[in-house]
Amino acid sequence: MAATNSNPCRIEIVGGDITRLEVDAVVNAANPTLAGGGGVDGAIHAAAGPGLLEECLGLGGCPTGSAKVTGGYDLPARFVIHAVGPIWRGGAGNEEALLASCYRNSLSLAVEHGARTVAFPAISCGVYGFPIVRAAEIAVAEVAAFLETSAEIDLVLMVGFGEETRSALETALASLTGTSGPE
Ligand code: ADP
Repeated sequence: MAATNSNPCRIEIVGGDITRLEVDAVVNAANPTLAGGGGVDGAIHAAAGPGLLEECLGLGGCPTGSAKVTGGYDLPARFVIHAVGPIWRGGAGNEEALLASCYRNSLSLAVEHGARTVAFPAISCGVYGFPIVRAAEIAVAEVAAFLETSAEIDLVLMVGFGEETRSALETALASLTGTSGPE
């Protein structure tokens, strides 16, 4: 998958299940133990198979705002980047900066491992309760800022699982690129 001229910002919003995407790396919305969980974490582990959990358990966990890489096992993706988003506690606990740092750190790891196409779920927007509209703005702004300084990533897919998430991501991207949002 390569960037095209019709998508100069190299960000695309897509729907559906992240585990099916044929990208170099998928990002997981993990928890600090990296021992698996529900939501997208559960879906990624189920699709990747038991080798993923085994590798994760050897990583010694991961602090909030950071990320660690494993293989993709039975996923189409070669790598899984496990990013630990913040739990939303009302906004006074540095949640916005921690969420931004998940996106930045994940993309740095992708570059380090030669992954040129990367797919993100809406980190922290499920069980962790981060408000989706603000999270989408942070996600899109952070990815766009990274891509401006890095030619080593061809395309970032941002997966909106469900209409509300997809629409929040599309609106955030449209306002960043100055185009009109979803109808
Ligand atoms: P967190 O604990 O970081 O909030 P969740 O997995 O609960 O993580 O939710 C993160 C986001 O991932 C939510 O928007 C959720 O709808 C979405 N999600 C859940 N399953 C999938 C999937 N298979 N593919 C893509 N996104 C998913």
